[in-house]
Amino acid sequence: AKQGGGGHPAFFEASMGKSAAESFRIERELRAGIPRGELRLFLQPQFSAAGEVVGAEALVRWQHPERGLVPPGVFVPVAEESDLIVELGVWVMNEACRLVAVADAAGLPLALSVNISPRHFRKPEFNSWARSVLDRTGAPPERLTLEITEGLIIDNVSDVVAKMRELSALGIHFSIDDFGTGYSSLAYLKRLPIDELKIDKTFVQDAPHDPSDAALVETILAVARQLQLKVVAEGVETAEQAEFLNSRGEVVHQGYLFGRPAPADEWLARWAADAGA
Ligand code: C2E
Ligand code: CA
Ligand code: CA
Ligand code: CA
Repeated sequence: AKQGGGGHPAFFEASMGKSAAESFRIERELRAGIPRGELRLFLQPQFSAAGEVVGAEALVRWQHPERGLVPPGVFVPVAEESDLIVELGVWVMNEACRLVAVADAAGLPLALSVNISPRHFRKPEFNSWARSVLDRTGAPPERLTLEITEGLIIDNVSDVVAKMRELSALGIHFSIDDFGTGYSSLAYLKRLPIDELKIDKTFVQDAPHDPSDAALVETILAVARQLQLKVVAEGVETAEQAEFLNSRGEVVHQGYLFGRPAPADEWLARWAADAGA
């Protein structure tokens, strides 16, 4: 598998088998870095089969004063060990909603997907907080998709469902991230106010050549059709992968083939120029 990012010292590299001391150091530096404004929001565009931008995923980066741009694979798992992930999630959501509102004011109907950690979503105050961010920024709730994982749904289903229904009634959309990698049953899909399934990049990338990955992708597309869910394929890197997907269903593409994650203001400027042209 490819490493995301690169160019940062070995100290920050290993995501597996990171020593306790390293994790502790990352946690301490991130805790200090968030209030200092060291996080950056990158966007990666999502394209319809017709080649139109239909949305973007917000992906966080850490502009570390000495180590440069640190990819989330290094610090998100560390942050998830404590409520530091809530602080990170608060920053990301504020920034995402601010962007949506700015885009909206400029006449760009930007639809943003935001990754939500289970630990953050499970906070009793998550919904009231999310509502207050929307109110404060003026971001239209329909422009926001919250990406959650199967792991969130497995435990405490009824509480999670109730919270999702409430947010969904406001117009917020929900997507299941890394769909197919979890251990949950398909039965829960019917119970949840889900709008979208996201196929994990490992399946997307191997599907053209691996019959079992191909079958898995086809099954996800069949389930999505049945339940009338949108499907986003993550990690589309080659024309062959894109063609495989297009020949089997209606899929939104997100991947290096179409656009890499880049600073939010770069994408906004590009889209504003396109809209004005
Ligand atoms: P994810 O949610 O599954 O995000 C997709 C990852 O795939 C991103 O990695 C994206 O840059 C990468 N990707 C997109 N297209 C391609 C492609 O064509 N090829 C390859 N090889 N990779 C591609 P990234 O940005 O490094 O993020 C890694 C993970 O960190 C995310 O996985 C997500 O779980 C987590 N993460 C990122 N931002 C946030 C955030 O704001 N909050 C939380 N809680 N987690 C985040
Ligand atoms: Ca995601
Ligand atoms: Ca993920
Ligand atoms: Ca993924």
